[in-house]
Amino acid sequence: ATQTLSDDMIELFAAEIGAEISLIEQGEEQEVELLALLEIDEEEIPEDAPGRPPIITVMGHVDHGKTKLLDQIRNAKVADGEAGGITQHIGAYQIVKDGSVLTFIDTPGHEAFTTMRARGAESTDFVVLVVAADDGVMPQTLEAINHARAAEVPIVVAINKIDRENADIQKVMGQLAENDLVPESWGGETVTVEISALENLGINELLENLTVVAEVEDLRAEPTARARGIVLESNLDAGKGPVATVLIQNGTLRVGEPVVAGASWGRVRALINDTGDQVKEAGPSTPVQLLGLNEVADAGDEIMVAPTERLASRVAERRSHHRRQTGLGRDAHALSGGARLEDIFEQIQKGEAANLNLVVKADMHGSLEAVSESLRKLEREDVKLSFVHRGVGRISENDIQLASTTNATIIGFNVRPERKARDLALEEQVEIRSYEVIYELIGDIEAAMLGLLAPEYEEIVTGDAEVREIFSVPKIGKIAGCYATNGTITRGSKVRFLREGTIIWKGEVSSLKRFKEDVREVQAGFECGIGLSDFQDLKAGDVIETYEEKEIART
Ligand code: GDP
Repeated sequence: ATQTLSDDMIELFAAEIGAEISLIEQGEEQEVELLALLEIDEEEIPEDAPGRPPIITVMGHVDHGKTKLLDQIRNAKVADGEAGGITQHIGAYQIVKDGSVLTFIDTPGHEAFTTMRARGAESTDFVVLVVAADDGVMPQTLEAINHARAAEVPIVVAINKIDRENADIQKVMGQLAENDLVPESWGGETVTVEISALENLGINELLENLTVVAEVEDLRAEPTARARGIVLESNLDAGKGPVATVLIQNGTLRVGEPVVAGASWGRVRALINDTGDQVKEAGPSTPVQLLGLNEVADAGDEIMVAPTERLASRVAERRSHHRRQTGLGRDAHALSGGARLEDIFEQIQKGEAANLNLVVKADMHGSLEAVSESLRKLEREDVKLSFVHRGVGRISENDIQLASTTNATIIGFNVRPERKARDLALEEQVEIRSYEVIYELIGDIEAAMLGLLAPEYEEIVTGDAEVREIFSVPKIGKIAGCYATNGTITRGSKVRFLREGTIIWKGEVSSLKRFKEDVREVQAGFECGIGLSDFQDLKAGDVIETYEEKEIART
């Protein structure tokens, strides 16, 4: 009989017998085939197609005022008294300036989001480069210039913080000129606008300039075409299931249409625009939240309307199969002699090139990228980091197995292991570290690399209860009718509230009852009623995990 070996198995086997292997990428070939199946060819947008709004990304060095500027532009919309009210943070938003619509990608302003920003540039018509007048061109300014150049999109420079006493606009212009962005006022072609995002100066002028650049760019799209777009952000929402923010690039997306986005598919159940309103359709350059996909799509995935639901599911399944086989974002060298987090310093000291193998799981693609990107920056000559696996979702038994065979440490960001995975981790002695703050995560790994890993507060899970029914008690609120599945549930103990393995709330057990009686604790195997102070968003199938913190000594 023929058996298919996963790439992991092949690599393991090859390492075992000391053979070199190279894996052939079948992905591209398959992709062409799949696109043909969807009856998609690189459609030409007719020259007489209507104009579409420009898609604009704000980039620049950290702290130069990107977030402030995006906020200010968003406020301008509200100040204009436009219907629809306050913009929701869905990943992008639109404003109207003198009758023209502008679409802004609402990227998080932190350095850690470099990857998303790079993607932003690819789905972007032009870039607003924010440079603080008191700080000038900095490393990330240059990085942003490079991203924009690579994507071949025009750059409009916003010289920000002109209200600052030490603002030096001429100096900034000189630095821009040095980088081939010669300002118009210096006889060059680069549009520069002097602004203060803080004091709301020059924002109007910036927007006017953006509409002018958009006109020159002459952007067009065919609204009658089958919709195609890009996934900007996606996550698993507690109530709504997989949610993807998509930016329509061509055509019009409508509720009810079958879609495929990377390895996920579905029928569009609802579309929600940037002001939180449900809409029936979304045309070119419009950002919308899409509900109805069967899985969390990847940020950066292309989304397209399929001819039929069956084709959508077939294409998604083929891709999903392929991604499973190749492993999302796995490094080729990940399997060669990894060290655990606790042993890494020892290996460094021995003068060996140390290799830290990691399995990284996070609640969303955005945070997964951010975590990976920040971790990457910790790499040094003598310490290499390898991602054995990166993925979105709870920490599974598969992850533990993989970590065990590759000697990897598991990093969870806003996600927790399911109970079986936790048991397996104990058995296999796989270390799981979970974090909710990126700086803490990075700090710990950095410390480990310096041999300074702080005493660890191990969080010992004391019990699990499954929510089966929800009761509303007047004046008290919602009580979770639970079945204690593991350990002991104790009143007052700390709680992580999990849905699909993702932490959606933290707090404590504020009340605990057996039938009508208040009790101090409930053992596994019994039913109980759990009240969670201010938390009311309960659903059957959720898990209440109780835990205590205990310092564990390092050896
Ligand atoms: P980002 O990291 O680029 O997103 O920067 P932020 O928008 O978070 O801004 C960083 C800091 O600079 C914040 O404290 C802002 O209030 C401040 N800031 C932003 N724009 C201006 C400005 O025009 N003038 C002054 N004085 N401060 C500003």
